[in-house]
Amino acid sequence: MTSQETVDHKYVYDFAEGNRDLKDLLGGKGANLAEMTNLGLPVPPGFTITTEACQAYLATGREPDGLAGQIEAHLESLERGMGRRLGDPHDPLLVSVRSGAKFSMPGMMETVLNVGLNDRSVVGLAAQAGGNERFAWDSYRRLIQMFGKTVCEVPGEEFEHALDEAKRARGTTSDLDLDADDLRGLVDAYKKIFLKHTGRDFPQEPREQLDLAIRAVFESWNAERAVLYRRQERIPADLGTAVNVVAMVFGNLGPDSGTGVAFTRDPASGAQGIYGDYLANAQGEDVVAGIRNTVPLQDLERLDKRSYDELLDIMARLEGHYRDLCDIEFTIERGKLWMLQTRVGKRTAAAAFVIAGQLVDEGLIDLDEALHRVNGAQLAQLMFPRFQLDHDFEPVARGVGASPGAASGKVVFTSARAVELAAEGEAVILVRRETNPDDLNGMIAARGILTSRGGKTSHAAVVARGMGKTCVSGADEIDVNVPAKRFTVAGQTVHEGDVVSIDGTTGKVYLGEVPVTPSEVVRYFEGTLDPHEADDALVKAVHRIMTHADAARRLAVRANADTGTDAARARRFGAQGIGLCRTEHMFLGDRRELVERLILARTDTERADALAALLPLQRDDFVEIFREMDGLPVTVRLIDPPLHEFLPPLEQLAVDVAVAQERGEDVAKEEALLAAVRRMHEENPMLGLRGVRLGLVIPGLFAMQVRAIAEAAVRVTRDGGSACPEIMVPLVGAVQELETVRAEAEKIIAEVVGDSGVEVLIGTMIEVPRAALTAGQIAEAAQFFSFGTNDLTQMGWGFSRDDVEGAFFWRYLELGIFGISPFESIDRDGVGRLVRIAAEEGRAARPGLKLGVCGEHGGDPESVHFFHSVGLDYVSCSPFRVPVARLEAGRAAVETVGSDSR
Ligand code: PEP
Ligand code: MG
Repeated sequence: MTSQETVDHKYVYDFAEGNRDLKDLLGGKGANLAEMTNLGLPVPPGFTITTEACQAYLATGREPDGLAGQIEAHLESLERGMGRRLGDPHDPLLVSVRSGAKFSMPGMMETVLNVGLNDRSVVGLAAQAGGNERFAWDSYRRLIQMFGKTVCEVPGEEFEHALDEAKRARGTTSDLDLDADDLRGLVDAYKKIFLKHTGRDFPQEPREQLDLAIRAVFESWNAERAVLYRRQERIPADLGTAVNVVAMVFGNLGPDSGTGVAFTRDPASGAQGIYGDYLANAQGEDVVAGIRNTVPLQDLERLDKRSYDELLDIMARLEGHYRDLCDIEFTIERGKLWMLQTRVGKRTAAAAFVIAGQLVDEGLIDLDEALHRVNGAQLAQLMFPRFQLDHDFEPVARGVGASPGAASGKVVFTSARAVELAAEGEAVILVRRETNPDDLNGMIAARGILTSRGGKTSHAAVVARGMGKTCVSGADEIDVNVPAKRFTVAGQTVHEGDVVSIDGTTGKVYLGEVPVTPSEVVRYFEGTLDPHEADDALVKAVHRIMTHADAARRLAVRANADTGTDAARARRFGAQGIGLCRTEHMFLGDRRELVERLILARTDTERADALAALLPLQRDDFVEIFREMDGLPVTVRLIDPPLHEFLPPLEQLAVDVAVAQERGEDVAKEEALLAAVRRMHEENPMLGLRGVRLGLVIPGLFAMQVRAIAEAAVRVTRDGGSACPEIMVPLVGAVQELETVRAEAEKIIAEVVGDSGVEVLIGTMIEVPRAALTAGQIAEAAQFFSFGTNDLTQMGWGFSRDDVEGAFFWRYLELGIFGISPFESIDRDGVGRLVRIAAEEGRAARPGLKLGVCGEHGGDPESVHFFHSVGLDYVSCSPFRVPVARLEAGRAAVETVGSDSR
């Protein structure tokens, strides 16, 4: 901007000039004060200095040109309107100077009240207040205190000490017992404190007070606590705050005055009614400071019926106008009601659903809007059991909240012990340094999983989320010693059998048992709670909004499920098929021996025998899943992980062999196994012999799986069911890989399926960047694509899925390189671009190509919106996230461009 433009630029808005849509410019408080003013509600007059003025001040360290003149003009007009001048010795106008950013940052920035008081106007104020000297001197001492602390960084304790001293001298503990003389003395004491710390007298010039207070509010945008709060709430750092200069009204002028806060509905439950607190003869900060106990707002009816009725009337008008729950702050000055603030009120997840439903009933919003008023994160919160933390529980450690929920139980360190104790009916928490596929049984048996290593996509996290099981991963303050069956944390030792509690939402770990409440919403999704019969307003509201989301959404929602049990649960939760059935879990447990035989086979016959033994087991697995998913598509992925993951770890095997040799035992088999493990060792297994590469290198492996899938489908169909298998090839990077696998698979399918009527699709995962970039070629050979965004993120960023989150993401988050882990929410610009390119080029080559996503992002609310926008057909996620994905897919479909859901 040129300096002339700066001078002309409008930095100050009268309340009558603004409206609620100007939050960017006027901040939330300013925009809503303007809105109330224009509604004709009793708002004390004032004006707002824009966030742009703040941004300019923070950038240059001085007020932008033109600001001072505009403040002067608006102040004059305020003075004219009020018939008083700022700080006039005889009849002073006083103002408050309040911060107010676009997004509410409660208590994080500064406010200065009573600006305009000085040694002379304090007398005028007493006269204005009908000779109430006590009130005038109390207001003056409050100004010096707030101004000193906020504007001049005088330590607040010094003022507190002086106040305590005055009370002690008077022999009381209550501020109210101090009389005008005491307070006059206190003003003197405060002035001395001010002089001592600032080297100057307390400013007597009202306009100087005002300018310094405005500047202090600007600067409070960068106060440490505000910076911290913004980081946590993901509020951009460059917005700045607006400053509201408002004519003071006083709630501390006597028993016919007071101040209060209120909600138009209960922000905790959503219940209709009046919720609020009132404090007679007090100013707003007294309520916050808790100096005296407030009374329920309903008591105001008795104290001041006229103001009470007017307040109720205003609250109803505000709700009707904002079409939402509002919270308000008000003051009554000698029987006259003033509105000091309103905004759309924050609420709990439960209240969000209940209120959205009520507003539809009241005709204030339609169902599309109701859907917009809730979100997947809130629904997820409602689905997990929760700790009742009404008692004092201090966490002993904090890790990554890897899979939400709350679980308490006895600590166990091995999968076997977890299974054993669970069979005895004990609740257990499986504690490991990190989990591996061998821990699966223990994870199933446990109430929750706690690991000291790994992030949100570690094995423990992914598997736990799939099972809807609580998991805290990467709690690195915990030192796990499995052989000794104990862990240490914060100087304490926890042994097997001791009870711990873990919160998978916050990542907090507690010693001992914290009581837990189960979720009604899950009972509803599981079908054990009928929404029409439940007398629970929340369940009814969830049902209604979910029904609308399902009707509105374009994206289908499938589940990632590997067993009949998971498939059945996913179906109850509304899954429209399986988007990813990982087959590797089917090679564990007592089948491990067959996998070893396969790996150790020296001849074609030995290998064929091992595969033949695996075939019927695999077929039974698929039969179970196809039956559960009767009539719905099931995407089965051919085996993906490197085969050595099914063998014992090298170090352990080497030790076992050496010990057995020492004892002179026959170790021929173990030696062969050891040799195989050594031979198959890889430095970078995630980039090694896995996925489609296995199918190309190990003869008969994929063929066995394809045959098992086709045979299972035929059996289910012959039994009168309907199986719709989709065979998916993992880790494809080049069309030739897929063509080779497909040619072999098609032969087997044709042979098995015959005239059974079963149709088997063959498609591929898109999870290697090269596949995304050559999607046009790959689509020629694929009947569907499913985006494996876990690997696509790993390979797109070059971030190891298993290591980076715990290792250094904190620094990336701190530096703002990303606001959220790209493993959690899709990185739209990079990995998302790969998805978009592949979707477009794939469909260009094969119109109507079916597109889905089965990486963890399929259940992430933000990412679901992205997948909707790039035109995928479905998202697939863990069964417990299916309702969240349904809701978000509905929201994406009704979303209006540029809407602001914060
Ligand atoms: C993926 O990579 O996104 C995926 C779904 O496969 P996995 O997580 O099994 O590698
Ligand atoms: Mg993958």
